[in-house]
Amino acid sequence: MTTERTLNLVLLGPPGAGKGTQAKMLTTCFKLPHISTGEILRAAVKEQTPLGIKAKELMDMGALVSDEIVIGIVEERLTKSDCEKGFILDGFPRTLHQAVELKKILLVRGKAIDHVISVEVAKDELLARITGRLSCHSCGKGFNQVFDPSASGDKCDGCGGELYQRDDDNEDSMRMRLDVYEQQTAPLAAYYADDSLLRTINGSGSIEGIQRNILDILGNRSEWIC
Ligand code: ADP
Ligand code: ZN
Repeated sequence: MTTERTLNLVLLGPPGAGKGTQAKMLTTCFKLPHISTGEILRAAVKEQTPLGIKAKELMDMGALVSDEIVIGIVEERLTKSDCEKGFILDGFPRTLHQAVELKKILLVRGKAIDHVISVEVAKDELLARITGRLSCHSCGKGFNQVFDPSASGDKCDGCGGELYQRDDDNEDSMRMRLDVYEQQTAPLAAYYADDSLLRTINGSGSIEGIQRNILDILGNRSEWIC
């Protein structure tokens, strides 16, 4: 079973809750891989692999890609050696079936999830965040045209990279993603609460404040922190 030294973390929460932002900060702190199924799928779309070609239409609509595909992606990723000490999963699991399969994938390797943190944000705020969202092509940093613009205008103020709007960050797709979230992903909170793994945090405050709340939940792991 999992030892104290692993940090197998799942971030739950609706699109736009800030999971990716928090995961990127945690990955620096803990030197653990950030596994975002959305990012893996977007990379496949960009490279026009058979998977990417198949996934693009569904993703643009705001629908889910099939469980079999994403479970396969995650299983393969979790077997890489950089996941030995732990990982930060963002955007997976998104359905009950994915959650059950994740548990099995870990179990056969003598592992288990250590923490599930659900980041909660009200629907109106999510819509406003996502429709103005811009991301950096080079480093993935997120901005918001209205609330959090880049100091360098249309370039990333972190690395100077090009900023772009995701094809699925429009209002129609966003409404669909929120419906899908409520119907298929929100029930995972109860699933993880039953295993006493779930902690819920408010995702509306400052990025640093939310980060502190997450670090409090993860407890004293000073030996890990940068
Ligand atoms: P969001 O901001 O909507 O949370 P993500 O980057 O996590 O965006 O995912 C973008 C899209 O990729 C989703 O709308 C979905 O089409 C697909 N996707 C990502 N993760 C999964 C998953 N675990 N299961 C099915 N589809 C997924
Ligand atoms: Zn950048």
